[in-house]
Amino acid sequence: MRPCAVFLMLMLTAPLVGAQSTEAFRAMNRPVPPYRIMGNLYSVGASDITSFLVATPEGHILINGGFVETVPQIQENLRTLGFRLEDVKILLQSHAHFDHAAGIARLRELTGARVLVMEGDEGVFAAGGKGDYLFGEEYFWAPCPVDRVLHDGEKVSLGGANLTAVRTPGHTPGCTTWTLDVEDGEKTRQVVILGSMSINPGTRLLVKPSYPGIAEDYAKTFRVLKGLSGEVFLASHASLYGAEEKARRLLAGATPNPFIDPVGYRAVVAHGEQVYLQQLERERGEAGVGRPPGSVHVDVPATIDPRARYLIYLHGRILEEQGRQAVSPDFGPYAYDAILAALAERGFTVISEVRKGESGLPFATRVAGQVRALLKAGVPVERVTLLGASKGGYLALAAAGELHEDGLNVVVLGSCGGGSVALAPRLRGRVLSIYDEADRFHPSCRDTFARAPQLKAAKEVVLKLGLDHGLLFTPRKEWLDPATGWPP
Ligand SMILES: [Zn+2]
Ligand SMILES: [Zn+2]
Repeated sequence: MRPCAVFLMLMLTAPLVGAQSTEAFRAMNRPVPPYRIMGNLYSVGASDITSFLVATPEGHILINGGFVETVPQIQENLRTLGFRLEDVKILLQSHAHFDHAAGIARLRELTGARVLVMEGDEGVFAAGGKGDYLFGEEYFWAPCPVDRVLHDGEKVSLGGANLTAVRTPGHTPGCTTWTLDVEDGEKTRQVVILGSMSINPGTRLLVKPSYPGIAEDYAKTFRVLKGLSGEVFLASHASLYGAEEKARRLLAGATPNPFIDPVGYRAVVAHGEQVYLQQLERERGEAGVGRPPGSVHVDVPATIDPRARYLIYLHGRILEEQGRQAVSPDFGPYAYDAILAALAERGFTVISEVRKGESGLPFATRVAGQVRALLKAGVPVERVTLLGASKGGYLALAAAGELHEDGLNVVVLGSCGGGSVALAPRLRGRVLSIYDEADRFHPSCRDTFARAPQLKAAKEVVLKLGLDHGLLFTPRKEWLDPATGWPP
């Protein structure tokens, strides 16, 4: 009897949780037919709990073991595809959580394969879930020996297949994203199997952090994930990459292969980062870091507090075309609501609305009217900021041109271009321009400032984040700090 089997028997007296314990887990663990994703890469897992087989002439690599109850499905799926479970030589996982790791002990027992686990997760994995920062008192599995501890960037090779273990910590300290090259006809494609970047309910980042350094770990993970191509996009949960729909199209003969989805990959990573940034802001607020939080309104509020600081946010053009949930193929989701929340978190009474359809200078006139309403109610002009991103910045400058208020604060993000130069002669107020050096539109306000003699103050901040025009799509500290601190 192999060690895992002994452990399994011992563990039966302890609470052992598997897929059948709740309705939700059962739904994630429904049997689904296996299929070839591309080249020698196969989907062999359950409906949402994924498992992937990399088949080679010298034996196979299996990534993710699912719940204990997923194992018979994996076994059956391999058989359906014409593979033998006994030929699995290496067992890998995305992270040490019960829905991906619990089946590994049983798989090791059935195959004799070596179990490789990323550093940071090896302890919790070997202990069958004990010590996990979130589920360590609740969800256990059969403890299983770790045959080799992996380190960030390490390669796992077998029969010509080379996988890279990319450490993407946060969700668990050793959470692993796997990358590998797979043949797709004439082409070679990079596959990314996302470990996880989600923040489970109950996780704390700043205030009483779930483990020391977790906020930095998540930040590193988003940096790393944004650096991967995501050409062929897979993950530990099928729902994350729309596996069901893609598989349906693949089996119906769709070309190119529907799993080639770098845009979907970027959108999912951007959304994950947005959620992370929102939680950071929320925890900062709870900790009393910074000013008391403000509020968000679509128009000038009915009751105007002259002591409050007002900020009118004007979004980029993409929301005119796509609405509130806009997603750019180049820059991912436009985190409009997160941006408004971050501005309110910094103490502003935020006024912003989604412009409908093509909107030009009449909208600038509308904004100028909102500012006049604030001034009329007794708000000093120095407490009003117009913040415009991309086209919104052009409209903010146009509104400032109409208002003729020297004390007005205007911040434009990636906004100056040909059009704004024409507004220059009428410009008044204090204008701050922020853009990324890598912005493909080169939106420097230099020429505009040079032709705007009546400005009380003009400053330009050039960030070197390599984010291109995507800088303004998410509430980043790098632009929030200068924008909300203007004038200094
Ligand atoms: Zn997990
Ligand atoms: Zn999971």
